[in-house]
Amino acid sequence: MNSLKTDVLIIGAGGAGLVAAIHAKEQGVSVKVLTKEYPTRSQTCMAQGGINAALGNVSEDSVENHIANTLKSAHGQADEEAIRFMCSEALETVAWLENIGVCFSRTEDGKIAQRRLGGASAPRACYAQDYTGLKILHTLYDKALSLGIDIENEKFLLELLEDTQGGVSGALMLDIRSGELQKYEANAVILASGGYSRIYDKNSTNSTASTGDGIAAALRVGAKLIDMEFVQFHPTALKKSSILISESARGEGGYLLNSKGERFTNELAPRDEVSRAIHEEMLKGEEIFLDIRHLGEDFIEEGLPQERKLAKLYEDVDPVHDLIPIKPVAHYTMGGIEVDNKSQTSVSGLFACGECANHRVHGANRLGGNSLLEIVVFGKEAGINAAKMAKKSTQLQEKRSIIEKIQGYTNEIDFYEKKQSLGDLLYTKVGIVRKKGELQEVLEEIKLLKSQLPSMGVSDSSKVYNTNLLEFIEFHNVLDVAEVVVRAALKRDKSCGAHFMEEV
Ligand SMILES: Cc1cc2nc3c(=O)[nH]c(=O)nc-3n(C[C@H](O)[C@H](O)[C@H](O)COP(=O)(O)OP(=O)(O)OC[C@H]3O[C@@H](n4cnc5c(N)ncnc54)[C@H](O)[C@@H]3O)c2cc1C
Repeated sequence: MNSLKTDVLIIGAGGAGLVAAIHAKEQGVSVKVLTKEYPTRSQTCMAQGGINAALGNVSEDSVENHIANTLKSAHGQADEEAIRFMCSEALETVAWLENIGVCFSRTEDGKIAQRRLGGASAPRACYAQDYTGLKILHTLYDKALSLGIDIENEKFLLELLEDTQGGVSGALMLDIRSGELQKYEANAVILASGGYSRIYDKNSTNSTASTGDGIAAALRVGAKLIDMEFVQFHPTALKKSSILISESARGEGGYLLNSKGERFTNELAPRDEVSRAIHEEMLKGEEIFLDIRHLGEDFIEEGLPQERKLAKLYEDVDPVHDLIPIKPVAHYTMGGIEVDNKSQTSVSGLFACGECANHRVHGANRLGGNSLLEIVVFGKEAGINAAKMAKKSTQLQEKRSIIEKIQGYTNEIDFYEKKQSLGDLLYTKVGIVRKKGELQEVLEEIKLLKSQLPSMGVSDSSKVYNTNLLEFIEFHNVLDVAEVVVRAALKRDKSCGAHFMEEV
């Protein structure tokens, strides 16, 4: 197997990966970005509501208020210094995004428009209609291409490669197109591979790619993971498809109603509180709806065009005239790979940023608009610090790939069915409200599934575009990550933010 060498290797071409790539490249080192999908399809493009910065363009606001709101929502589980850094950098971050070409929506006097999201004391989220993530991601991609950054698509991370000093110095990838294994050597590796909400399978707003592959690979080389039990359930996903209806719909004045047409909660409370309020109503047999009819067609068309399209397409309702049926589903994973303030993990040579990392800025519950901010602020740190480290030279150890391990697996049990039923089990028992006995049951189920893996091998033996193989590897990763989530939930026996334990 030929080895390809670069200074900084980045796994993931979402917002975090591309920001890291741009900043690393600007330090004068060689940079390669590998992604299992196409960059512009990364999940960042799904972000709708906005990116937080206390610009005060619509009403008075301050960095101190942004810090205070973020700390409150984190339920004491975040690092105040890290939050202070992120919120203080936010103003320059939005200016940088605008500078490289992001077309933010505008106020009538030409300033960047801002809207209020849950848990914020002022309209703070800068947005591009309800396509904020898409505009940011595409602009970052353009910028990365203009800098000549080498981006390779359809490369699937199998394993991180360790060097003889016990650090990470590369990655073993599967070329999806050819089915060949490829070894990439690097002086520093940045994981920017996104979150793990798809362990809940279809009960998630996330793209199917969010299977926590990077986190599972980091775990296998001994990187520390933290706060894995903190999974955020978003209150308003479409009932049939789990597609997100952005918090901006409530931020702009939308109501939550039960089947009797009654409001039952403060719609702009943090997400953990709103999701629990909905969960309680659902336990009483109520159906829950989002109502934005009173905002009027002109407003909806101008400010929330994507939400209207999604509701029409996937729920067969027009929010201008109809109530939107919704339910809470897994949306964002606060837990992840532990990093310091330089985005360095506990393993030498390995950095992480974006949703796969935990910079301790969200704690037990993330505020809407703070993730896009985090990926740009800490993506920059990861890029710069990895580039600084990319001076050392290393020698790789030999590693067996997962592909070799699963070669002898038989195909008696359908893993697709198991993947879906595990997602449902996690949704009901490791979801908005958790019980110790049920967590234990899920852990046993995960152990059982792991022991059955050798009978769940792939049926498709082709090399080219073997999605059956990729999905099996993702399922492997899902099991590893789900096990850590359940073990972490069992360890934390007190309720905290998104982790809510029912007393027995
Ligand atoms: C519907 C929706 C709406 C949202 N709205 C907002 C919002 O308004 N404001 C806000 O702040 N946040 C929002 N978020 C959250 C935010 O979008 C994400 O947290 C953020 O975009 C994550 O960026 P990332 O770069 O870390 O990961 P991603 O954008 O998920 O990118 C991950 C990258 O890693 C790659 N990858 C994964 N596994 C592998 C592998 N095995 N091998 C190779 N490559 C791999 C993927 O292909 C992808 O390129 C929203 C999230 C969703 C789902």
